[in-house]
Amino acid sequence: MKLKPDIDKIALERWQIRQLHPNQKTIIESTLAGNDTFGLLATGAGKSICYQLPGFVLEGICIVISPLIALMEDQINQLKNRDFKAIGLFGAINQETIIQRLDNLKYGKYHYLFLSPERLSNLIVQNYLKELEIALIAVDEAHCISEWGHDFRPSYRGLSLLKDLFPNTPILALTATATEEVIEDIVTNLKLNAPKQVIGSVLKENLAIRIYQHEDKPLMLLARLNRLTTGCAIVYTRSRKGAEKLCTWLVEKEVNATFYHAGIDESLKTQRLNDFIADKVKVMVSTSAFGMGIDKPNVRSVIHFDLPENLAQYYQEIGRAGRDHKEASAEILITSKSIEQLKNRIIAQTPSVDDLRLVYQKLIAHLQVAAGEQSGNSVLIINHFCKKYSFKPGFIYQSIKTLERCGILNTEPIKMNVWEVQLLNKTLGKVKSHDTEFHRVLIKLRSTQRNELIRLKGPSPKILEYLKREERKGKLSLNEPQEGLVIRWSYSREDTYTLSLIKKVHKPNLERKINQLKSMIQFLKVAGCKMEFISNYFGIECDPCSKCESCLPSTIEETEVFQLLKKKPLSLSELVFLTGKAPITLEKVIQSLLEGEHIKLNESHKFELH
Ligand SMILES: [Zn+2]
Repeated sequence: MKLKPDIDKIALERWQIRQLHPNQKTIIESTLAGNDTFGLLATGAGKSICYQLPGFVLEGICIVISPLIALMEDQINQLKNRDFKAIGLFGAINQETIIQRLDNLKYGKYHYLFLSPERLSNLIVQNYLKELEIALIAVDEAHCISEWGHDFRPSYRGLSLLKDLFPNTPILALTATATEEVIEDIVTNLKLNAPKQVIGSVLKENLAIRIYQHEDKPLMLLARLNRLTTGCAIVYTRSRKGAEKLCTWLVEKEVNATFYHAGIDESLKTQRLNDFIADKVKVMVSTSAFGMGIDKPNVRSVIHFDLPENLAQYYQEIGRAGRDHKEASAEILITSKSIEQLKNRIIAQTPSVDDLRLVYQKLIAHLQVAAGEQSGNSVLIINHFCKKYSFKPGFIYQSIKTLERCGILNTEPIKMNVWEVQLLNKTLGKVKSHDTEFHRVLIKLRSTQRNELIRLKGPSPKILEYLKREERKGKLSLNEPQEGLVIRWSYSREDTYTLSLIKKVHKPNLERKINQLKSMIQFLKVAGCKMEFISNYFGIECDPCSKCESCLPSTIEETEVFQLLKKKPLSLSELVFLTGKAPITLEKVIQSLLEGEHIKLNESHKFELH
């Protein structure tokens, strides 16, 4: 009989983990016993050890599948630092490199292989892997498999292949956010065999959820950010333009902020991420593109400037605050119109069945796909298409993504990276730079006529920064690169089939979206504990958090003082008079309210609400 490995000892010796959480232990034991396992663990609850440890103990290779390249790179580095052998197959690598790495894997005694879902669909990769001894397959951020998960990636659907390729290898699916419906979808899609389910708590004990209503949201944000004495904050907006605009405004108000979204240059993304991690930037204004896999301990506050569309996404985003387990806050800023705006936004972004049918018909006309024909890759320039048929780009983007979810086509984004510049004023700002490319662009710009349009292919971030600055001064106008999609049809054109497929698949999808929206609104309005509401949404029972705005003030005395101060600011002696309580009792109450940031001392030395 094989001896059972001492996982506590291995965790301590190889990972310096003093104590594995019971949930981690259950997952590890189940995996080592060869079972399929599903684990729902809160962000920051140590998901990676759940597959890294069995991957090390088990004979053979542990395949780790993850949605983000940065996440995989990060893990490979961490593993290498601990003297483990790990290799990655993802990102822009050619066939030759793939084969070379697969050869290394075959003969190099590796423990871990990090794989993107796209690479798994490669037949060469599949054939190589079939010859190897695969001990364990871990699917991280498994909610991406589910159409009902907030981060759905169609390429993740292909992971259903895993069970066919490796019928005897245990699969471990991990995520931090999944409703019962999403869990069911994951289990079905990965073909998990009677999986052991480990559902951790959703409650984040150090996180206080607060909602602030104010008609001037930017001002409110500024006030909240100014309260931040240590650590840093992430501010979530829902549009790229929104993030840029808000960030510019904050910088004008002397906040040390930067912005991040999917549309910015890769090198700029890395630079901004690193600046944030290194505490060079205090406030990151971002769309939902920022955050997955970011393990920064001292984020003291996650502020939602715009409302997220569902609770799963909200929960994922607030999970980036307080990873060091110290007090942190999740703040939502709303105006009296926010809920209405959220509804409108979701409706505008969610195409109806009829919308989808129309977009489909215009697409086949525009890309000239003949009936019965399955054309190869076609490139769709979103703006051209929208201009021709008077569609809004956001709507088209969502519609095509939905057609992809229905299984009608596959898409891949491409960036043309050609910027159009039009000079409006000959006196461009001077710059000191020794960069030759910079000078070349400047010369080109200065030699053009006013209003003449010039195109710059792949300008460096430095040049772009300069051009944007000059644009803000009104010296020139700058057009962002056209965004395109490579479209691949899943089958030969067969309109009747496609139109019925849209109805069949999209209708339940629509209903789910509406239900998710309803839950989000309910969450905002619910009088009970906010954290408990989220937990129940994920189908997990929990006690009130005693931290969120519904749970505090926590004592009768605190509530009494709070209610009095709600009417007007009062001094300590006034409070003694009004409550009839001893000053010493009241001091404690006031101290607690001050610490909870419910009240503050104003200039005339009276207490007032925050
Ligand atoms: Zn609570």
